[in-house]
Amino acid sequence: MAKATEIEDDNGFKMGEPYFCKECKRNHTKGKIYKDHIEFAEFENKTKDEVDSDNIELINDDFEDEAELIEAFNEIEAETDDFEVEEQLDAEIIMDKEENINYGESIQESINAVKKLPGVGEATLNKLIKAGFSSLESIAFTPPSIIQEESGLGDKTTSKLIKASMEQLNIGFKSAEDVWEHRKNIARITTASQELDDLLGGGVETGSVIEFFGEFRTGKTQIMHQLCVNVQLSEEKGGIEGKALYIDTEGTFRPERIIQMAEGLDLDHKKVLKNIVFGRAYNSDHQILLIKEATNLIKEQNIKLIVVDSLIGHFRSEYIGRGTLANRQQTINSHLHDLLRLCDIYPNLAIAVTNQVQSKPDVFYGNPLQAAGGNVVAHGSTIRIYLRKGKGEQRIAKVVDAPHLPEGEAIFSITENGISD
Ligand code: ADP
Ligand code: MG
Repeated sequence: MAKATEIEDDNGFKMGEPYFCKECKRNHTKGKIYKDHIEFAEFENKTKDEVDSDNIELINDDFEDEAELIEAFNEIEAETDDFEVEEQLDAEIIMDKEENINYGESIQESINAVKKLPGVGEATLNKLIKAGFSSLESIAFTPPSIIQEESGLGDKTTSKLIKASMEQLNIGFKSAEDVWEHRKNIARITTASQELDDLLGGGVETGSVIEFFGEFRTGKTQIMHQLCVNVQLSEEKGGIEGKALYIDTEGTFRPERIIQMAEGLDLDHKKVLKNIVFGRAYNSDHQILLIKEATNLIKEQNIKLIVVDSLIGHFRSEYIGRGTLANRQQTINSHLHDLLRLCDIYPNLAIAVTNQVQSKPDVFYGNPLQAAGGNVVAHGSTIRIYLRKGKGEQRIAKVVDAPHLPEGEAIFSITENGISD
């Protein structure tokens, strides 16, 4: 989809650029589309009392030159646009719900479960779906304040929904001893950097989803390659003697790098390559499908690591424009839950994903770079590591979000033989 300002009209005028308009015989900027333009001309020629009072103020007040007036008009127009998008969003969701076409079967199943929660009517359901809470899990595992903030639902409704979702999912109490018993079985894969391992509490752990996010060339893909090699190592060497499944969405998987890394560890690279099951995901549907299919491979092939590089690249490019945002978050949410579910089913499986960062110009304090995918991704991954560049081959990793790790940073390097201190 081209940006509005990039569309040229028949006369070669770009939108937003000043030009001489035949309709109103004045210089002004080109409107959105021809129809809008005519309206624009009419608007400008309208007697001022026909225009609504807010706009009159804007027009009558001290706009000395036309350029300023046009700017003001464009602002009003932009605001109206935003409004339309919101409305469209509502309409879209309702349409989806009525026709049941746009959601995949498994999403529809989760939605039905939410629909059955006590007190969930059409309006509440819409709000929940729109905010990406379309499954019992997503409601049960998200802090109430965030559900409230994202969905606009009230305090009481939110607590009730969480409680009911938890009951449905049978999330009750168990002794801390049981939990400890479970966690004791967690194994770790070395990253090949002692510092990074220490930061992660001993390496990448099984039973959870770890997300590495950062800008371009910060080493996300290199870490994914390294983990695919290291998962195959014996326990005393920091591995868990398993195979890896690599889902590549960006076309950046390089067997050459695997060979270099294997040789760096004195491993037979042919064997190492054989133990990596590779899937290239060409679009987001394909990616979702590959993960669903992975369920069968895990047992069959002794897979102990799943890599998704990158998690939401396809979603980002396919769902353009705010009109499809809710839909996109919804699908990502369900995809993430597919991954989390795998971790629950196979406690000795580790899942590592990468995520691109998005610049957020409206953030004035702290780091303006945020992981793409927003809250949905943030709540889906168990451990989040932010990567940034240091000097030369150095990279810095920072724990952003982890239930049991202290905040801290580690410095590692990317060399020809892979990740190292
Ligand atoms: P991204 O975060 O975008 O996935 P990558 O993981 O692909 O980034 O990291 C790219 C960086 O890895 C390069 O900038 C380079 O510093 C390093 N790198 C890649 N291949 C090699 C190599 N063969 N030898 C040394 N460094 C390499
Ligand atoms: Mg990459």
